[in-house]
Formats: sequence, structure tokens, C-alpha cells
Amino acid sequence: MASAKNILKIIKRKRLDIDSDMIKLAIQFANSAHKGQKRQTGEPFINHSLATAETLAEMGMDESTIIAGVLHDVPEDTNVTIEEIEKNFGKDVAYLVNGVTKLGTLKYRGLERYIENLRKMFLTMAEDIRVILIKFADRLHNIKTLYALPPHKRRRIAVETLEIYAPIANRLGMDEIKGQLEDLSFQYAYPDEYAWVQSQMVERYHTKERHLKIVKRQLEEELKKERIEYIKIEGRGKDMYSFYKKVMAHDKDFSKVNDLIALRIILDTIPECYTVLGTIHRRWRPIKGRVKDYIAQPKPNGYQSLHTTIFSDDGEVIEIQIRTKEMHEEASYGIAAHWHYDEKGSIKVEKKFEWVKDLSQWKQALNGKEYLEQLKINVFQNRIFVFTPRGDVIDLPEGATPIDFAYHVHTDVGNKCTGSRINGQLVKLDMVLKSGDMCEIIIDKKRKGPNPDWFNFAKTGTAKSHIKASRKKYVSIPSIWNIVEEVKKANPVQQKKKK
Ligand code: MN
Repeated sequence: MASAKNILKIIKRKRLDIDSDMIKLAIQFANSAHKGQKRQTGEPFINHSLATAETLAEMGMDESTIIAGVLHDVPEDTNVTIEEIEKNFGKDVAYLVNGVTKLGTLKYRGLERYIENLRKMFLTMAEDIRVILIKFADRLHNIKTLYALPPHKRRRIAVETLEIYAPIANRLGMDEIKGQLEDLSFQYAYPDEYAWVQSQMVERYHTKERHLKIVKRQLEEELKKERIEYIKIEGRGKDMYSFYKKVMAHDKDFSKVNDLIALRIILDTIPECYTVLGTIHRRWRPIKGRVKDYIAQPKPNGYQSLHTTIFSDDGEVIEIQIRTKEMHEEASYGIAAHWHYDEKGSIKVEKKFEWVKDLSQWKQALNGKEYLEQLKINVFQNRIFVFTPRGDVIDLPEGATPIDFAYHVHTDVGNKCTGSRINGQLVKLDMVLKSGDMCEIIIDKKRKGPNPDWFNFAKTGTAKSHIKASRKKYVSIPSIWNIVEEVKKANPVQQKKKK
């Protein structure tokens, strides 16, 4: 559990340039402000403040950010004001706490609110990335304690996390945070699918793990022979949600997804990474087409590593990732490892994250549609947003057709689809959709199932797997909007109040 002691320990271990007395002071301050308050879990409120600060320390953030993490709920939930925070902890801390408070909760309700929320999120991000990092740390603990909330709330928050927070964490290169957010939300957002993946994984995991241990031992021997020193070799399980998405993209065929667990080797230098790749390929046969050099060609979000997949002596398929310590830190916390102050004392992010700064230029004069267009390019690369006649948004990959749209609205809409209108015009089902299109699906209630030809122009894994497996039983994933509707129905009073 998070505690003052733990936070100070992390600061020491990471050698952060932070005055631990100031941290202790902030904790005392928050403690008395939140005195008597309890979380839904029954624990003292301060635990939430400490957990948030602990994540920020783990990310290697600066003193102001960690202190702001401790104090982030003070203005909203207590009588203590921003002015008092400023008096005690200075302008920078007050600015950050105020930023988090202003951002408030991001809710996924209706198109307007969705755009508004994203807009808020990105404008804040452009101003000072640290505010968003506090928000992520805050959300992470909220998700960890989600079990204490009533079921309908649980589900809404979990879906919100999967739809808004996780993609942004991914875009910011925060792998560790993204993985945790997704895995913790998955079970509440889609409990049936979660149970299914878990049961499938457990069994396969154990066989895999045995083979992994053998390969690990052999690799250690090999590296010893070649006198290569490494920092560590670890076996790692795949994040469940990303594994689930991968399995769905492969027509629910578990055997096609090989990286259930992978070996990861952490080394000191880049040349050592390439040397070790050579060592591995001399010892085991690599699978063709699976050698990836993300060191020379990083992923768009900045991710770097060498990947290879080999056949073990028993013919088992094993993925191996090779990277330096720095790459490992970056892969975990992304942008958090990439900002610094410039000479004037303002925040600077490194080149590969400069797009975050560009967002501030659109501060004025963007309508909702234009803004979505920009978001598409800058954040949800290669994604388009298409509207339902009711104004709900469906998020699809580029090149998607009305068939993909139909299946993303609902399985039944896909299965019973006979035609489509885009912006009021009747179109063929293989028409490529654009961002901002309003798409309407014409259904025939008597229709038994999809046309197999659709497979040729469907783009999304969801649509493809439905078309292919239309006769097999299929667990459907409700769209976010169905859930929103459910929440509205379950909570009519609250809904009214919001207006
Ligand atoms: Mn909070």
C-alpha cells in the first residue's frame, strides 16, 4: 500500500532531486485537509493522495508534480483553497493542482461532451504535460479501487478508461500505465470476455512458462560463454486486454498469437543489444518476418527495442525483446521521461513529443468537426470518427466501410445489415467512410446473417470475425453508447441534474 515512507524510498532509489521534507510537509497538509474523509473502500482518503504521488515518483517526476499529486483533491473535496496551497507550496504546485481540478472528471456522454472532454484534455496537455500525468496517476488508483463502487458506475468508469485514457497513454508512449489501465478496466468493462480470456490464458501460460524457463537458462549460459554482461533477463506475461484484442484480430484463434509470454533482456548499451540478437540467432532459429528493429526505426509513439521470435529446442515459439535500460524506462513511462525545463524555466518536451505542444495552436476557432479531424491526425493516428444518426461517435480505422460501422454499433446491426446511407445518400456497403460522416444502416429484421463477400472489404477485426464466424456462438461487445444508455436508464435523476 502507498505510504509516505514508500514515496521517499522511491525518490531515493531513483535519485530524484527532491526535498523530502517538502514531500512530508505536503503529506501532513493533505492529511489534515482530508481528515475524517473516507474512500468508498472504507480506507482513509489520504491513501488515494499517497498512491497518486507514489505513481508520479515511480515515473520520475519533479518535486512540484509529486507534491501536486499529494494535494490534487484538496481544493475539490475540502475547505482548503488554491490560494492556501499557493501560500504554502508556491505558484508551480498551485498551478498544477488547479489544472487537475479544472480538468475535473472526463466523461463519455454524448458527442458534444466527448469532444469537449478530449479538447480539455489536450489543451491542458499542451499547456503543461505534468497536469495530465497527475490525472493518469489519479485514474490508475481510482481504477485499482473500482471494486468498491456500485456496478453501473464501475462499468462506465472502466469503459471510459479504455476509450479515453488508455489510447492517450499509448500515444504518449506510457506502456506501463496503459497496460495497467487496460488490464484493470477490462474485467469491469467486459466481464464475460475477461473471464473467457483468463480461462484460455491460464492453461496456455503454464506450458509456455516451462519452456520459457529452459530458454532463459540456455540464454544465460550462452551470454556467459560470450562474456556479455546483462542487467537482467525477465519473463513477462502479455497484458490481458491487448492479448484479447490480438486474439480477436486473429478470429479468436489463440494458437495464432505467439507472444503470450516473452523473454526480455535489458542491457547497458545499444551495440550490446545487436550483439545479443546475433547470439540468439546463432543459437536458435528465428521465425521469418518476426525480426523487428525498433531501435533503428522506433514506433510512432517512440518505442524502441529489438524483437525476435525463435523456435526453442522443443519447437516452442518464444518471443524475445532486447533493449537498453533507458529504452526500458521510456517504454514504461514514455513522455514522463522526456520533458525538461528550458533556460526560461518553461516546460519542454523532446522532439518526438512535440505534437503535444502543437495542440495549443488550435486553441481558437476550431469547431467540433475540425477538432476531431485534428485529433485524428495527431492523437488517434489512422483512426476515423463516424457519427450515428443519433449523434453518437464510432471510432474506426482508416479505410473502414459501413459494414465495419454496423458491427461496431452492434452485432445484430451488422448481421441484419442490407444497405447504408452516408450523409443521407444511399451508398454501396464497400464505400470507404471518412471522419465526420454520418452513417445510417438499413436493416432487414428477417435477415439470417452476414454475406460472406463482406469479408473482402471489412477492415476491422470485429467485423471480420463476425462475418467469418457468423454461425458459431459469439460473445458480443456492447458499444460504449449502449452502456451510456444503460447508465442513463439506471440513473435518470442524476442525468437531469447534470444539465
Ligand atoms: Mn483523485
